[in-house]
Amino acid sequence: MTSVHYGRYSMPTMTCDRCKNEVVRVEQCNYCGKNVCNSCMKASQKASKLIRLVICKDCWGNMPKRSHYKNKHDLIATIQATAKQQKV
Ligand SMILES: [Zn+2]
Ligand SMILES: [Zn+2]
Repeated sequence: MTSVHYGRYSMPTMTCDRCKNEVVRVEQCNYCGKNVCNSCMKASQKASKLIRLVICKDCWGNMPKRSHYKNKHDLIATIQATAKQQKV
């Protein structure tokens, strides 16, 4: 299956970096940077109004990353630092 059909419309699909499935929506894991589908995403949470945290199942299995995910303050600082780097 390469596309998802809604009625007679065909939605553009994206490829999950983890399971390689074609899905309508992927989200980027904040730890490994992979674009993962819903089933590869282990958890997501809102860290602030603007920041959404996503962790994939691979990173969830990594204890330092998992405990980091649970420590929002560290995580927000990391994400903001990454966002600054990407702008340059
Ligand atoms: Zn996937
Ligand atoms: Zn990950």
